[in-house]
Amino acid sequence: MLDGGALLDLYQNGRAADGPARLAVLARAAGADAATLPLAELDRRIWALRADWLGAAAGDAVCTCPACGGMLEFTLPAGFALPPAAAQTVSVAWRGRDHALRQPRLSDIGPAGLDPRRLGEGPWDDPGFAEAAARALQAADPALGLGFAMTCPDCGAALEQLFDPAGYFWAEIEDLARRLLHEVALLARAFGWSEAEILAMPPARRALYLSEVAP
Ligand SMILES: [Zn+2]
Repeated sequence: MLDGGALLDLYQNGRAADGPARLAVLARAAGADAATLPLAELDRRIWALRADWLGAAAGDAVCTCPACGGMLEFTLPAGFALPPAAAQTVSVAWRGRDHALRQPRLSDIGPAGLDPRRLGEGPWDDPGFAEAAARALQAADPALGLGFAMTCPDCGAALEQLFDPAGYFWAEIEDLARRLLHEVALLARAFGWSEAEILAMPPARRALYLSEVAP
């Protein structure tokens, strides 16, 4: 269930953060250790927090068709829900040698993006190896770099896009938190209640008072 106080805390902490730092904030809210868990597992835990906060309706996500502007609903592929036991290390065979690589973590992302050399020893300068490594890591945990292929039901356009679960949830958090802040401000101004008093109110009761203030 969505807790107003927790929502506002999360919004406040993640607002000023950049991408990786925000991912850490979201992971913490989901009770996941961003220092030790792979990125794919962080996304999975964050998506589970979303389901917990937003309920069954959160199973689906929507995006806008770039061709016609229509709204498209999609569900995350089954592979996304793999148990956390998904292989944390994979072996990539390349030119007669096996290279053991581990799944990327948040700490592997530097100012220039993900540094693959931290994942294990290998001929990273060889684009063929880098590509094979990316494919093997993604095959071991499909939640890493989720891609979607869809056809728009309105205009028939074929879409392919990467999906970022944490970024998607963050956009929803921003919307919800801004709306809640607005409600708190309206009620505090109208009735002189404190933030804690307003947040402790069931949302349905808050809506009743809001209709008195701003019908
Ligand atoms: Zn379309």
